[in-house]
Amino acid sequence: MLKKIIQIVKGGGKVASPKLSKALKRVEVPVDTHGVNRDLIDPRAIETVETLQDAGFETYIVGGAVRDLLLGLHPKDFDIATSATPEEVKRLFRRAFIIGRRFRIVHVIFGGGRNHEVFEVSTFRANVDAADATQVKGSEKSKSKLEGLTHAVDSSGRVLRDNVWGDIASDAARRDFTVNAMYYDPSSEVLVDYHGGMADAKKRIIRMIGEPAERYREDPVRIIRAVRFSAKLAQLGFKLEPKTLEPIPKLKQLLSDVPPSRMFDEMLKLVQTGHSLASIQTLKGLGLERGIYPLLDVIVERADTPMVKRMLADTDERVKAGKPVAPSYLLACVLWQDVIDGWTARREGKKPFAKIPTFSALAQSVDAVFDERIGDVSGRGKLGADMREIWMMQPRFEKRVGGSPHTLVAHLRFRAGFDFLRLRGQCGAEFGEANAAEIAELADWWQDFQDADHQERLAMIEEVKRQPKAPSATGVKSAKPRRTRKPKSSQSHGDGLSSAGV
Ligand code: ATP
Ligand code: MG
Repeated sequence: MLKKIIQIVKGGGKVASPKLSKALKRVEVPVDTHGVNRDLIDPRAIETVETLQDAGFETYIVGGAVRDLLLGLHPKDFDIATSATPEEVKRLFRRAFIIGRRFRIVHVIFGGGRNHEVFEVSTFRANVDAADATQVKGSEKSKSKLEGLTHAVDSSGRVLRDNVWGDIASDAARRDFTVNAMYYDPSSEVLVDYHGGMADAKKRIIRMIGEPAERYREDPVRIIRAVRFSAKLAQLGFKLEPKTLEPIPKLKQLLSDVPPSRMFDEMLKLVQTGHSLASIQTLKGLGLERGIYPLLDVIVERADTPMVKRMLADTDERVKAGKPVAPSYLLACVLWQDVIDGWTARREGKKPFAKIPTFSALAQSVDAVFDERIGDVSGRGKLGADMREIWMMQPRFEKRVGGSPHTLVAHLRFRAGFDFLRLRGQCGAEFGEANAAEIAELADWWQDFQDADHQERLAMIEEVKRQPKAPSATGVKSAKPRRTRKPKSSQSHGDGLSSAGV
């Protein structure tokens, strides 16, 4: 059996799994039956498909985009599946990059700067069938033999690398849910369905393709994906099919073997795709609210605290309105409670800490929170740096003398830091921000400062200078008094998340 797998993987070429292909029935659904509106598809996705088709490769839009189009939702991105290998895809586009190791895919890029758009093009893949995977299971010798080949599983049957090319039928069979396994050809407007995805979409069922327990074992992240789609599609009346749902509580411990960086990404998808509150409810309903990933535990645990609840609700609204959201802002909110506890303890010299100045106290607390809570994924340079900046900017808001406010307002990440300050003012009182009311006033002052012209800004700083000093919780001076406020539309909470977009 192992020999057979090695033969499959060594080929590295196009291998269809005969067992799978035979079992499947290809159904081609015409446009007047499926009703997908082609105009809702990004023209650049169509262009990518057509370029590949013109070069002779069988190519479709696939996955979540087809599901969403069929359900009348706006797809958030368009994934493309093709018979071309990554190298063949790359050759056809001016800006295309082969990425990934577990799945080698091609990013085809359109446009530049902040407005660039990436389309993921993946080659049809074959699956090592479950029986073969079981043979390999538990055998260190087999594992090492598979090392370095294009398709490998670990001792629990988890697929480590998955780069065995196949045909469209085998590609459909290795996708997760029936509603995620439909292919749409924008040229003919035909929808190709191998697993009854159309019927399940109509019946509002999220059904795992194949044997659910086996599929969760193969890739435990599918458990989290089941939660995500169940939360996302609940608004349309979708439910997890009983056999798809049933093994989840029993198998949840498999998630502890998933590399932290992948869990981190899945966790972010769960809370950043517009259904965070529903996802948290679903996790609770399935008994997954604790113990599947430390940072997710914290989010679930704090989802009912004012700051996190408000931030999650804002995030869901922003995603629905098509506005960008920033993972750094989200995590800065979730972990602020830890930062502020450590900051206060160090600033006040509470045991076991020696008393140190406020800025160093904050910096040390931030380091400690990164060590304790972010752990393995702290290496994500930009995300971590942005979180630090949001936190470290907080005491700087209290320094309103000389050139400081002018420098701060021009800071690249000012908007994210300011939004965070405002959120602290609105919600901080509930969890130990002793001076939340002052913080709210300080946020108002900074709102005015942003809106003011240069002369007004100078006057505002002068005005602060004239006020008697009142100690604040962070040892900097009081926020009072404020100028009379100008009515501005920019007051709405959460707006700044857009500039916090990363
Ligand atoms: P979303 O709209 O949230 O992006 P999606 O269905 O497009 O949902 P992606 O994570 O973008 O989800 O994945 C694209 C497609 O790839 C899925 O629809 C599914 O067919 C397939 N897929 C992704 N991850 C897995 C997995 N772990 N196991 C099997 N198939 C997967
Ligand atoms: Mg997608």
